Amino acid sequence: MPEYTIALVAHDHKKSELIQWIKTHINVMKNCNIVATGTTGKLIAKETGLEVKRYQSGPLGGDQQIGALIAEGTLTALFFFWDPLNPAPHDPDVKALLRLCSVWNVPVACNAASADLMVTSPLFLSMDYQPAKPEYDRAN
Ligand code: PGA
Repeated sequence: MPEYTIALVAHDHKKSELIQWIKTHINVMKNCNIVATGTTGKLIAKETGLEVKRYQSGPLGGDQQIGALIAEGTLTALFFFWDPLNPAPHDPDVKALLRLCSVWNVPVACNAASADLMVTSPLFLSMDYQPAKPEYDRAN
């Protein structure tokens, strides 16, 4: 069975919503390798028992580490419950992470409704669907 790696990230005011969402979709989550930013990952492991590879906390570079997974082609999807109501000190990193999803055509859900639809799609974690991988002229 192919390995699917998904990233789960939530800003502080969105963490409880993400945990609830994970519990709702726990069977899908169990079929994925999960990576997360530091604090989010710690909470997921504690609250759900899932195994999580944790990177740095978001403001300390975790978003960029997950961005690196996108750039190297190892991330299947990103679930990023970012907070639209509070400023983040690492806003440039947040934007950069979302930008890389578009650069590399990686599925990204930024709220629970989109995340629901994504993981319940029959094409999610299916061999029948491989997102087109953009090709870029490296000289540019
Ligand atoms: P955290 O980082 O999981 O360490 O809180 C999330 C973020 O702010 O990007």
